[in-house]
Amino acid sequence: MSSRRTRFAPSPTGLLHLGHAASALRAYDWANQHGAQFLLRIEDIDQPRCRVEFEAAIYQDLRWLGLSWPEPVRKQSKHMADFTAALDHLIEQGVLYRCFLTRREVAAAIASAPHGPADIYPGPAQSMNTSEQERRLADGKSFAWRLSLRAAKDRLGPLWDDLEWQEQGSGPNGETGLIQSEPTRLGDVILARKDIATSYHLAVTHDDALQGITDVVRGQDLFESTHIHVLLQALLGWSNPVYHHHSLLLDEQGKRLAKRDGAMSLRALREAGTSAEQVRKLAGL
Ligand code: GLU
Repeated sequence: MSSRRTRFAPSPTGLLHLGHAASALRAYDWANQHGAQFLLRIEDIDQPRCRVEFEAAIYQDLRWLGLSWPEPVRKQSKHMADFTAALDHLIEQGVLYRCFLTRREVAAAIASAPHGPADIYPGPAQSMNTSEQERRLADGKSFAWRLSLRAAKDRLGPLWDDLEWQEQGSGPNGETGLIQSEPTRLGDVILARKDIATSYHLAVTHDDALQGITDVVRGQDLFESTHIHVLLQALLGWSNPVYHHHSLLLDEQGKRLAKRDGAMSLRALREAGTSAEQVRKLAGL
């Protein structure tokens, strides 16, 4: 077996659908074709939205599809201290700041930004001074830890311009090969909140590094996030996996499949008599 390793990393917030089957099967097939290892990881950091019955359904559905993986499966909710340590490391580097803005204030800041992309929080015009922060903390105000792209750029120096990843699949606009990472496309993203001690971006890059994932096979919906993942890898000294983003399955209206389309869940398909082999075909494989 080669030392290459990939994973499927679903969140148990609903039943898996055909889109998940496509990602899981592509990762599994890739591993088999390359003599690589395939891992399953449960990304359940958003505890209020995750349910144990969805986790149980993930194991059941994937086994039915014919997949197997080494045990024990890593469950992110059991390792929150790991993510806190990574967050602390970033705080020590001075690349995070506390953002006390409400959702509405963030929306207003985005709307008034001169020419930033839509939905992207560009970061504060100037950082909040320490006494103001302390006053808000003492008042019990809630906050999010945001990654300051300005501080990260200062920290990395010339390395900032060398942020890149190897894309062996393709992005939504056909991007492939060596991709220059542009973290500013995502703005000052949130890496933790008061109630959820880590964000998807931090947890996924941490675990890919910890588990020695050399190849990430996942949907193109996460292509943009890679711009931030590569930056986090550089800041935290983690190696970059090769990414293989694949196109998404669309429904009849041309919309991306979503968990709320219950009829398309793997469970519903199975109960309707669809075979695992037919699911493969429906998933475009
Ligand atoms: N947990 C993420 C999701 O369910 C996927 C993470 C990844 O593949 O990078 O969308």
